[in-house]
Amino acid sequence: MEKLSLTPADHALIEQALAVLKNNFDDGTYHHTVGCALRTSTGQTYQGVNCDGIHGSCAEYVTMGMAISAGARTFDTIVAAHDHSLHGVVAPCGNCRQMLFSYCPDIKVIVNDEQGHLVKVAARDLLPFAWQPIVVD
Ligand SMILES: [Zn+2]
Repeated sequence: MEKLSLTPADHALIEQALAVLKNNFDDGTYHHTVGCALRTSTGQTYQGVNCDGIHGSCAEYVTMGMAISAGARTFDTIVAAHDHSLHGVVAPCGNCRQMLFSYCPDIKVIVNDEQGHLVKVAARDLLPFAWQPIVVD
């Protein structure tokens, strides 16, 4: 797995994810609030928060939906954030890893590595043996 170093733009993305997190709220039912920021290949950024519910929607899903709704189609880097997490960064859940793999397997995801260092890795590296649709000729 290739681990890339963060750029100043990546650190700014973390700050955006932490900033949008402040707009989220928790009424005490779920105790889970996450912010997310995504940068497209053209440098446009989008921010979103998770939505609670029986099934809920992770912040990564909400943010990707916002970017797609605005017409974005190529994605560079994404990060999910919680202010009580190491470096403010949260690793994407399995469902989000599959979503990222499906839309953009090469998108870089900012995570904490095994030593607790911030790195960027490709979404495909976060989901070995990923499900893929069966293509019938
Ligand atoms: Zn998720």
